[in-house]
Amino acid sequence: MDIRVGHGYDVHRLVENRKLIIGGVEIPWELGLLGHSDADVLLHAISDAILGAAALGDIGRHFPDTDEKYKGADSLMLLKEVCAKAAEKGYRVSNIDATVIAQKPKMKDYIPKMCENVAKACGVDTDRVNIKATTEEKLGFTGRQEGISAHSVCLLIKE
Ligand SMILES: [Zn+2]
Repeated sequence: MDIRVGHGYDVHRLVENRKLIIGGVEIPWELGLLGHSDADVLLHAISDAILGAAALGDIGRHFPDTDEKYKGADSLMLLKEVCAKAAEKGYRVSNIDATVIAQKPKMKDYIPKMCENVAKACGVDTDRVNIKATTEEKLGFTGRQEGISAHSVCLLIKE
């Protein structure tokens, strides 16, 4: 059995007049994430972890932000495409673990839905997806609410 680990990291700036979409969930908040797509920082980190594990580069390579096609793109669709690309190489997701770093708002209530969205996009059971949220104790850019970051690791298996 071939087992591959991958890592992903992403950051988006918080601005006014943008929706806050994390893990495919629209969270009511006064600020949203800026980006060419829907700027779903968590799904981008997860997508990069999967692409990393499959040695397929990164999402910037597959979905360039200069391409009009991806303007306002639903990152759940991009994640689905990423899983399809990994599947072409014979890999499926064994598990995903991820952390969202944000001072505000509280993510807790939205996490089960985020896990469900990710599991569905990847075609796996929800118990293979774990999402956590933390603050950085008001330190740095996340602490000052200038942006939100996300980390992820993913294990892919080929039988
Ligand atoms: Zn991103």
